[in-house]
Amino acid sequence: MDILCELYLLGVAGPELHPHDESHTFRFCPRCGGALEHRVLKITEPARLVCTQCGFVFYIDPKIAVGTIIEVDDGQLVLVKRAIDPGYGQWVFPGGYVDRGETLAAAAVREAREECGLDVRLEGLVNVYSYPGRAPVIVVYAATATGGTLCVDDEGLEVAALKPDDIPWHELAFRSTHDGLRDYLAGLRHPLHR
Ligand SMILES: [Zn+2]
Repeated sequence: MDILCELYLLGVAGPELHPHDESHTFRFCPRCGGALEHRVLKITEPARLVCTQCGFVFYIDPKIAVGTIIEVDDGQLVLVKRAIDPGYGQWVFPGGYVDRGETLAAAAVREAREECGLDVRLEGLVNVYSYPGRAPVIVVYAATATGGTLCVDDEGLEVAALKPDDIPWHELAFRSTHDGLRDYLAGLRHPLHR
């Protein structure tokens, strides 16, 4: 383990997280267009954005994302180098945001197909990751490839199937990428509900 990797584990250094908490940028009610203001509705909860015209409460919910750690031949893992920010030029396993009404498993399979060209079978849940002050909640699956051909879409610069020893720990896009791979390689798997 190199020094950078140790620093990541200590939380001293690390890749940037998704900067998707943009609640401060919302100024108008999505229902009526009135001005929003911060109001404390319950003393035990954070202030909410409330419309000064119609009273609509604009809850800023977490954002649910899925990631899939895909094993191909000989235990190699699929990583994609990102072509978009955040994390441009850094490595991540295929994944993305879950659409409303879509199941987590369906989103994981869809994102894998879109981002690296593979059809996958989900083998287990690795873990769920969330970080203080950050909007995304990341659900990470273990999967095996069942078909398709490795390729990238417009969100990837390149794709690689890497042996665990070749994972570029100091060039990973997100903390959840690091934590998911660490837990996967430690053998963490939770059974899936079928
Ligand atoms: Zn309103």
